Amino acid sequence: MSEDPTRFLEVAREAGRAAAAVCRAVLEAAPAAPDAMAKLGKEPVTVADYGSQAVVLRALAAAFPEHGVIAEEGSEALRAMADEGTARQVVELVRRATGEEDAGFDRVCAWIDHEGVPGADYVWALDPIDGTKGFLRREQYAVAIGLLHRGRPFAGVLVCPNLPVSDEPEAPRGALFCALRGQGCTLEPLDGGPARPVRVSEVDDPAGVRVLGSVESAHGDPALVRAVLEDLGLGGGMVRLDSQCKYGVVARGGAEVYLRPRSRPDYRENVWDHAAGAIVVEEAGGRVTDLDGCPLDFSKGRKLVDNRGVLATNGLVHDLLLESLARCEARAAD
Ligand code: AMP
Ligand code: MG
Repeated sequence: MSEDPTRFLEVAREAGRAAAAVCRAVLEAAPAAPDAMAKLGKEPVTVADYGSQAVVLRALAAAFPEHGVIAEEGSEALRAMADEGTARQVVELVRRATGEEDAGFDRVCAWIDHEGVPGADYVWALDPIDGTKGFLRREQYAVAIGLLHRGRPFAGVLVCPNLPVSDEPEAPRGALFCALRGQGCTLEPLDGGPARPVRVSEVDDPAGVRVLGSVESAHGDPALVRAVLEDLGLGGGMVRLDSQCKYGVVARGGAEVYLRPRSRPDYRENVWDHAAGAIVVEEAGGRVTDLDGCPLDFSKGRKLVDNRGVLATNGLVHDLLLESLARCEARAAD
């Protein structure tokens, strides 16, 4: 039963919707209860990150107890940072989202810490709120639920509660992407409505190529991105968006390139920051590699230890970008 790939997506999709409801509830309550948006400790983590992770892992643990899990947050940090009021808020969020009226703090923490079976063939990679800085700014963020099979992205659900559902500026906000290996990628409105297949764009002329990058310049290498734009004469414009929403926009043909150079030589990307997004783009017909053109290797634990940066494209312009990156990096090293 649990080996049915369609069920993987169904469970992840419903869990992602519930997690998005947690995130939106925190944002809605924030003007009346500013504490709800407070960062906990030094890291930009909010009660919503913990609530979202608890809700998703509760669902995955119940449906797929034999799978493994790699998730961003852990309850140890929550227990260390949370005062009584914060702990109560997290519990309340999870109770409301799940209907588990009796859930207490320890139970919620156990869901947050669910790791499943070590060494399992199927491993879920969860970012409960990717782009927490975007969430805090009320801009873009995503609940990213990826599924790896023997270290390769197999399925992904990417919930983008604040992303317009199409590239029309007035489109309602809330986009949910689903991808399954070999089955393509779909996009549906978060608040209900039919899913439709999406494809990457067919633009291959550099003059029309649109590029996406992080809002946070510290998460990349803006000088290298500028150099590549100039080197290739990419003329479609550069847009900055937080989170894996960038993968979603490439998948639906709203941009041709998501370029993420390393912010510093020793930075290694987190598995949960790319697992769901990578399969979403690949199943929409695009390509995802590191800046050397190597596949992302998700089999090494929590980090992409063997990869240098990330490049996701519509496929058509991928090699062009890799060649330019090599040229620009060589020039910068001179
Ligand atoms: P983005 O919104 O695309 O900038 O990506 C957000 C993700 O960047 C967060 O989930 C972090 O895991 C990750 N991140 C944090 N610090 C860095 C860094 N120095 N370089 C690259 N990524 C980072
Ligand atoms: Mg993240």
